[in-house]
Amino acid sequence: MNGNDREPECPRAGAVLAIHLDGDVDESGFGFVCGETLATHLRECSSCQRLLQRARRLDAALASSAGRMLADHLATIDVVAKKLVANLVACPTLGAPSRETQANPLLDNYEGMTIAGGPGLAGVSLISDDNFSATQFTRVLNLLVKLP
Ligand SMILES: [Zn+2]
Repeated sequence: MNGNDREPECPRAGAVLAIHLDGDVDESGFGFVCGETLATHLRECSSCQRLLQRARRLDAALASSAGRMLADHLATIDVVAKKLVANLVACPTLGAPSRETQANPLLDNYEGMTIAGGPGLAGVSLISDDNFSATQFTRVLNLLVKLP
């Protein structure tokens, strides 16, 4: 296809593509832009049908490429066996309160971690948040651990 064979781009192509890329399944953005549903428009607009087909092929190609890149990257990583370096159940509680029944009030759903230093002694910081729950706390633990 050369440039002369192309039909003009649909004026709603940007909204159609944005809905596809953003995953706006309720089509509210499309309805706001042009006052009709995406499905109705796509049944009638061959330009947008081709646009979505190209976008989906591009998504598939990117996903395939990302999968190959991840596999290539993982092949370069040395995998080591896991080893326990700290046991929060056995840590002193330091008077930390808990609103839940647990072996140590410092146990939590830690969602972030940084490691500084090592090999040998290293600082490990853990962070949890309260998830806006009355039964949880936001905590930051700073531990000194001996790394293998
Ligand atoms: Zn269209």
